This record gives sequence, C-alpha cells and structure tokens, in this order.
Amino acid sequence: MKIGVLALQGAFAEHIAVLKKLGVEAVEVRLPEQLEGPDGLIIPGGESTTFNILMQNYRFVEPIESRAKAGFPIFGTCAGMIMLAKELSDAGGVKPVGVMDIRVRRNAFGRQVDSFEAEVDIPVIGKKPFHAVFIRAPFIESAGKKVKVIAKLSDGTIIAARQGKLLVTSFHPELTEDTRFHKYFLDIVAGKH
Ligand code: GLN
Repeated sequence: MKIGVLALQGAFAEHIAVLKKLGVEAVEVRLPEQLEGPDGLIIPGGESTTFNILMQNYRFVEPIESRAKAGFPIFGTCAGMIMLAKELSDAGGVKPVGVMDIRVRRNAFGRQVDSFEAEVDIPVIGKKPFHAVFIRAPFIESAGKKVKVIAKLSDGTIIAARQGKLLVTSFHPELTEDTRFHKYFLDIVAGKH
C-alpha cells in the first residue's frame, strides 16, 4: 500500500513519519500528477487560507474533487478537514474542495482555548481513549445523513467523522505516538471498514 501526503504546507512530515512507522510507503505529493500512484491521500493540518491559495495555484482542487467523488480515500486533519468540507462558517475567503457533507467552523474554539489537548473516546479505534491535540482547530457544526460521526467531545462537539472513504478530524493524530487513527484510515484504504 502506498499513501500520498499533500506536501504543499503544514504537518506533512509528521504524517509521513507515522505512515512509515506503520510500515506503509508514504510519498510527498507536490504536483497533481503525483496523485496517480498512491492508494489514498492525507491532507495535513496547516493553515487553510494558505492551502486555499496553494491548492488553486498548483491546480489540485479539480483532481482532488473528482477523485473524492470516485471513492478515492482521503483523510483530512484540521485544515485538511476544512478543505474537504462542503460548507464553511467563517470561511475567511477559503473556498474548500467541497466533497464532504459537513459544515465546518474554522478556529472554532476561540482565542481563549485556541490550543488544547483532550482524552477522547473513539469507539471505532478501540476502547482506550485517544489523546487528541487541537491547534486552532475547526469543528463540525453539522453533518449530513451520509456522514457517520465517529468522535465527539464530552459537550457534544463533533471532532471526527467519515463519509464513505473520506475521513476527517479536528485534531492532529500525527502529533502523538498513538498510531491507531492512521491505522483506521489504512483499514479504510484497504477496504476493511
Ligand atoms: N486554524 C487553521 C485554519 O483555519 C487550522 C489549524 C490547523 O490545521 N492546525 O486553517
């Protein structure tokens, strides 16, 4: 299995390190033609306003959109989640690829708690809580019928979801030692879930 990590900006190196730890071939994707080889794609966290510009300049929007619609597995973390959403609250000029039926609020936790960590229950990856790192994180305000919510904070805030082979998280699973969330994506890519 080979996974591409969009390497225009943000935390791509950390995702590549986790994939390697899991014994998977990981490749940096810097040009749209490099989407041809991999079996799945990770869009990392970073800054969505920057992703917006770079994805347009490098002509990634259309190929990612058409692949997502054709069932290509894509995992978006944080800013990556923002880029996959159909709708944004407080878009700040960001025009997302718009393939997942979720409405996402950018910088949703506000200035006071703009970064925090929490132990969250994510039943699809096992009983043990997952240590989730949030950095100026977005959250999902609403999700369509085809979307499966897979994690919430204790106050009900949606922080991870899946629609077909599209997977998104508000938090950064690549910044912890726990590889279960990446393993879950790899299982989706392999058609096990
Ligand atoms: N606040 C960032 C944005 O709007 C996302 C932060 C992140 O990816 N860690 O893009």
